[in-house]
Amino acid sequence: MKNTLENHGKTHEIIAIDGPAGSGKSTTARLVAQKLGFTYLDTGALYRAVTHVAMLKGVDLANEQALDALIEICDFKLSAEGDLTRVWADSSEITEAIRSREVTSNVSLVSKHAKVRQAMVRLQRAIASQGFFVVEGRDIGTVVFPNAALKIYLVATVEARTERRMLELQQKGVAVEFEKLREEIIIRDKKDSERAIAPLKKAEDAIELDTTRLTIDQQVETIVRKYKEIRS
Ligand code: C5P
Repeated sequence: MKNTLENHGKTHEIIAIDGPAGSGKSTTARLVAQKLGFTYLDTGALYRAVTHVAMLKGVDLANEQALDALIEICDFKLSAEGDLTRVWADSSEITEAIRSREVTSNVSLVSKHAKVRQAMVRLQRAIASQGFFVVEGRDIGTVVFPNAALKIYLVATVEARTERRMLELQQKGVAVEFEKLREEIIIRDKKDSERAIAPLKKAEDAIELDTTRLTIDQQVETIVRKYKEIRS
């Protein structure tokens, strides 16, 4: 358990960062965690892990019972190490594999199921409730950690978000058309926002931050400042 700020007698603390795809959550959350001496936790990695393994095993992604059975027999493990979230399914590390475009386009089909969410939320709470964590996802401020010390909801125009994703993919050597990627982002956000359970939504007490015209440094500084304000 570490924290570079004074702990104010606290043994654990959560900063929740939610928002749609490409809003800058991961980069921002990682850097905020570094600056404050918190650990970073990427909760999307878990939904991606279940999706990846289900696809490998040919499980029907619409079948909640089958996915639940998969979660029962497969040991999904998440380890939060500084600014890296690593993921395993049984003894295989799948940290990289879960970032594929196929997983990205299917993950919302898996994350909408109640049984999947229950299991994943349990894991997230088990990891992050004992320590100082910046937790990033879609329902962190609303469902997973509703008592988080600070809740941030990041937004950005779909164009800005598409450009960021394009750059990320290009850096990995993946060529992709802007329009196609834009469409994929819109579809995923629609599914994530319209699902019945724990949809992507701003918590009432979250601070909304529009990152369209902000640099990463500005985003990070704003959040660090807000945290210091509430703890001063
Ligand atoms: O953040 P990332 O893009 O990796 O998330 C992948 C998917 O996981 C999201 O599109 C969403 O369907 C699901 N997710 C979720 N709840 C979270 C985090 C991610 O439903 N807390």
